[in-house]
Amino acid sequence: MLQQKQVTSVLNKQKKRDEWFLTEYSVNPYEGCSCNCLYCYIRGSKYGENMSEHLAIKANALEILEKQLRNKASKNQYGVVVVGSATDAYMHQEEKYELTRGFLKLLLKYRFPVFISTKKLLIKRDIDILKKIDATAILPSDLKDTLKRGTILSVSISSLDEKITDILEPGAAKPSERLQLLFELKKEGFLTGVNAIPLLPFISDSDAEMEKIIIAAKAHGAEYILIGGLTLFGTSSADSKTLYYKFLERYDRSLITKYDQLYGDGYFAAKKYQQDLKERADRLCKKHEIRNKILAI
Ligand code: SF4
Repeated sequence: MLQQKQVTSVLNKQKKRDEWFLTEYSVNPYEGCSCNCLYCYIRGSKYGENMSEHLAIKANALEILEKQLRNKASKNQYGVVVVGSATDAYMHQEEKYELTRGFLKLLLKYRFPVFISTKKLLIKRDIDILKKIDATAILPSDLKDTLKRGTILSVSISSLDEKITDILEPGAAKPSERLQLLFELKKEGFLTGVNAIPLLPFISDSDAEMEKIIIAAKAHGAEYILIGGLTLFGTSSADSKTLYYKFLERYDRSLITKYDQLYGDGYFAAKKYQQDLKERADRLCKKHEIRNKILAI
């Protein structure tokens, strides 16, 4: 049984449109995420080392979200809504609670476009609603001629190696299952792609590993692939940096020195690394003729 939380707001307005995901709003049906990825940015003392033990459902969220969407729609303030920015909207508890599905019904009713990135297969349950959103959502005027549709669906992949993802993303579907999901969503006619975020330094970020992911994404119907680096927050026992370093000790101790050089005492990889990753990603996407952004123009 999940903890029940009462909330006063569900629809968060971003300061500006996200350049990568095109989103202007975010909604999260749950607090915490049972996918339990070790590198997850929401980690920390609030959720503990095992986030599954501290999950909460926003019990009154539908009522609040409806008010907020009605208000935005009445002012014509449409924008793409990311469903699940700080949780996977399809973590397994959703099967029982169906709150993400409730959110989608409201987003359909008030005609808001959606973006979802997931590591779980349960999204297939909601294909019916997602198709209706895709066909009827009202887009911000500057996206009408470029995006042209109301639903953007990504699967998230950090590595194709199951030995790695079984440790790093213990509650997520296997990468091969996510690729199959991508294929099925594409077959249903959706705009689909891969969020290869985060790629793991010295593990899945080499040209060869990146190419494997790009080729697999394209072969399974991705129209775009968004590639980004790894951020590691915090120093407490439940923070992502601490947990990720524990993973490195288990996976390959020799990488620890390299990570120390890359991250130092900070949370972000060195600027030079980030720039190099971007340049290599751009070059490889061009080579394999796949977009590294959602919009075709
Ligand atoms: S799926 Fe996303 S939100 Fe959930 S634990 Fe993993 S990184 Fe965090």
